[in-house]
Amino acid sequence: MRIGVARETAPGEQRVALIPQEVDGLRKAGHEVVVESGAGAAAGFADTAYADRGAVVGSTADVLGADVTLFVRAPGSDPAATDELIGRLRPGQVTVGLADPLGAPSAATALAKAGVTSFALELLPRITRAQAMDVLSSQATLAGYKAALIAAGRLNKILPMMTTAAGTLPPARALVIGAGVAGLQAIATCKRIGAVVSAYDVRAAAAEQAESVGATFVDLGLETEGAETAGGYASARDEDFYRRQREALGKVVAAQDIVITTAQVQGMRAPVLVTAEMVRAMAPGSVIVDIAAAQGGNCELSIADEEVDIGGVTVIAPTNLPATVPAHASRLYAKNLTNFLKLLIVDGEVRLDLSDPIIADTLVTHGGEVMAPRVRDLLG
Ligand code: NAD
Repeated sequence: MRIGVARETAPGEQRVALIPQEVDGLRKAGHEVVVESGAGAAAGFADTAYADRGAVVGSTADVLGADVTLFVRAPGSDPAATDELIGRLRPGQVTVGLADPLGAPSAATALAKAGVTSFALELLPRITRAQAMDVLSSQATLAGYKAALIAAGRLNKILPMMTTAAGTLPPARALVIGAGVAGLQAIATCKRIGAVVSAYDVRAAAAEQAESVGATFVDLGLETEGAETAGGYASARDEDFYRRQREALGKVVAAQDIVITTAQVQGMRAPVLVTAEMVRAMAPGSVIVDIAAAQGGNCELSIADEEVDIGGVTVIAPTNLPATVPAHASRLYAKNLTNFLKLLIVDGEVRLDLSDPIIADTLVTHGGEVMAPRVRDLLG
C-alpha cells in the first residue's frame, strides 16, 4: 500500500507521525512510503533522512492521495484546518491519527460524507494488547515529565533539601492532582529532582501507583465507589462531588510550592479542581502547571497556552507539551502508529475486522457512515 505522512499544520505542532527509522519496517512489509516535504523538519528529521531510508518525498497532494495517510493531528483535531483538509481527501481514503472525535464530533459527519475511512487513536481501548499502540499514554508520559520541569524552572526556589554552611534549605513541596499516566510521570520527575511529592486521584487504584513512584497519597475522605469506568478512566461526577473535592483540596493546595494538575474525564470538559480562591491562598512564588488545559483546565484561572501571574503565583496552562519535545514524542508516536498499522493492514489490504476491539473502537467513519457509537451519540 501507499502510506502517506502528512506535514502537520496546527499552530505549535512540531511532531511528525512517522520518523525515518520506521520507514524500514513499512517498506519491508511491502509498503511504499510518501512523506510530505518538510514533515519531519520541526522534530529534527530532514527530508533526506526519510529519502535515505527509501521513502519518497512528495507534495501535500501526493500524501493526501495515498491509500493510508498518517497524521499526528488528523482532520478534526485542529478545527481551523479541518474543512480544507477533508475537502482534499477522496472517498475510500484511510486516515489515522489523533482526531479529537469526542471533542469535535462534527468533523466525523464531514469525514463520513466525504467517504473517508478514519481512525481516531484517542479511542483505543486501554487493554494490554493495545499498549504498544497507545499514543495517549506515550504522549502523556512526556507531558508529565515536561510539566515537572516547567514547574521547577519557574519556581522561586530549588526543589531538593540542601544543607549548606549558610543554613539548610527545606525541600519544595509538590502536589500532583490526577495520578494517571501523565501524573505518575510528573510525580516521578518531581521526586527525582528533590521535591517532597504528594498526589491525589479519584480512582482508588491510583493510590498504590502514586506511592510506587514516590508520592504520599492524599486521602480527601471522599467516596471512591464508581470513580472508575470499565475502561479504566475516571467517571464523570456531579457538581456536588467536585465542590466537596475542592473544599477538601483547599488546605492541601495552600501548603504547596508546586501544583501540577492532570485530571481529565474522557470526552468531557476537565473538572475545575483548583479555584481562584485556592490560587490566592498559595504563597507568592509558587507555581501551578495545568496540563488539562486543552480540555478546559483544572484550574479556574488557567488560560490556554498562557502564563498568568495571580498575586505572585504563576499559573501555566500548556495545551500541547509533547510537541515541545518533538523528537522523542514523534519517535514514540511513530512506533505506536506502526504497531497499529500492523494490525490494520493484512496482506497488503486494509482489514476492517470489527470483531477486534482495537479496530472497532478506533474506527470513526467508514462507507459514508459515522461508525463510532460514542461519536454518534454526541451527534444526536
Ligand atoms: P486521563 O488522562 O483520562 O486522566 C488523568 C487522571 O486524572 C486519571 O488518573 C483520572 O483518574 C484523574 N482524574 C479525573 N478526574 C479527577 C478528579 N476529579 N480528581 C482527581 N483526579 C481525577 O487518564 P490516563 O492517564 O489516560 O489513564 C486512565 C487510566 O487508564 C488509568 O487507570 C491508567 O492507569 C489506565 N491505563 C491503562 C493502560 C492499559 O493498557 N492497561 C494503558 C494506559 C492507561
